[in-house]
Amino acid sequence: MVDAPVMTTPHPGPRSRAVLERLRAVEASAGLTHGLSDDPVVLDHAEGAVITDPDGNRFLDMVAGFGSLNLGHSHPEVVAAVRDQLERGQQAMSMASLVRTDLLERLSALVTGEYRVILAASGSEATEMALKMARRATGRHGVVAFAGGFHGRTMGALTLMGKASQRAGLGALLAGAIHLPYPDPFRSPLGSDPKEVAATTLAILDQQLGDPASGWMPVGAVIIEPVQGNGGMIPAPAGFMSGLREVCDRHGVLLISDEVMSGFHRTGARFAFEHDADVEPDFIVLGKSLSAGLPLSGCLVRPSVSTASPAGTESSTYSGNLVSCAAALAALDVYAHTDLSKRADELGEHFRGELGLALEGHNNVGEIRGQGLMVGVELVEDRGGNLPLAIARDVSHLAVKAGLLLYPGGHHGNVLAFLPPLLASKEQLTTCAHIVGDILASAEFARSAQTQRNRA
Ligand code: PLP
Repeated sequence: MVDAPVMTTPHPGPRSRAVLERLRAVEASAGLTHGLSDDPVVLDHAEGAVITDPDGNRFLDMVAGFGSLNLGHSHPEVVAAVRDQLERGQQAMSMASLVRTDLLERLSALVTGEYRVILAASGSEATEMALKMARRATGRHGVVAFAGGFHGRTMGALTLMGKASQRAGLGALLAGAIHLPYPDPFRSPLGSDPKEVAATTLAILDQQLGDPASGWMPVGAVIIEPVQGNGGMIPAPAGFMSGLREVCDRHGVLLISDEVMSGFHRTGARFAFEHDADVEPDFIVLGKSLSAGLPLSGCLVRPSVSTASPAGTESSTYSGNLVSCAAALAALDVYAHTDLSKRADELGEHFRGELGLALEGHNNVGEIRGQGLMVGVELVEDRGGNLPLAIARDVSHLAVKAGLLLYPGGHHGNVLAFLPPLLASKEQLTTCAHIVGDILASAEFARSAQTQRNRA
């Protein structure tokens, strides 16, 4: 296992540059290739937490397919299952198959409570399905979402996201979406005590849902990421999910837990909502690491809710693709025989500790936080304050040059986010923390911060 980046040539090397030039000439600018850096990594091959580019440079991957690779790149058990399924048949849109039946049985038994399963191909599509099924089941079209939430880029899912940069130029989105502030004690006007922030947020929601003069469209569902991912790796305070369940129950509102990023042991539990006792969401939205890097998503849904949607109303050509299903079954096997929740929990603590040491006393570090291996470093103008320093993408660019992939996120573009494979080594995480420490101590970082101040 490679514990540190190996840079044989300054990135991007000549072979990578040649690929990037070809790509720039044909790829629509809306694509994500340049999301992390102006000089993105070119993947030649990858294994575990290490990506090798065509120049032989080796990068530590702390983004892991934006959380789709909890088992790392090309896990051997997943690769074997995919090979095997490819030889038996790839695709059966509307037919039954053994592999899909096995998967649905396994998924429906994953959590307490009775659930049916419906599959799709992307997280966005699964969010759309949950929205549509919730509307059909309740006949109410309002949906409460949270500022900074990310549920996908299709039009319905996008309505639930607050980010101006993603919505700009699109005109009217879906009617009925309402955004509440996410219970983030670091920058909440309701205080800095997590319990108080959670209780007051729930009290506001409770009041609005019960007030015929709220001005809200009748609400059928609340959707939440129990740990906000793209918004900056912000765990909801302990007790918030169970409180949300209670409020939803009081008002006959369905609860949708978006576990696309936080699912499959990422946060130290199989699903992040399970950190609170006795929470049974009406929908659990799945994607990303469900199938360890193959395109597959879906929803676990309460039977009483799912029956309101007639046969054939939710599907698409590649929903439940057989190869993806085989990958998911193999991933579930690995999840079952590896104590990944415990590992994510322990590695998360180790990593946050190492980041704490590497960034100790740094004036622009406001908070190091996370749950399991969803980890974020919030950049601020001055320690002790919470004025955002919106240079996460600049830091990501510097990190790529140093052989490290991180994920620039946060409401203000000011959070360095980390989603390492759960099988990454302690040494890889320690190295990552050191690289981040070196970058934040560098003249380039100081220059970038100054440029941002001049811009603001
Ligand atoms: N929900 C969450 C929490 C996500 O993080 C994402 C993507 O990052 C999505 C939904 C959308 O998933 P996809 O990109 O597969 O459409």
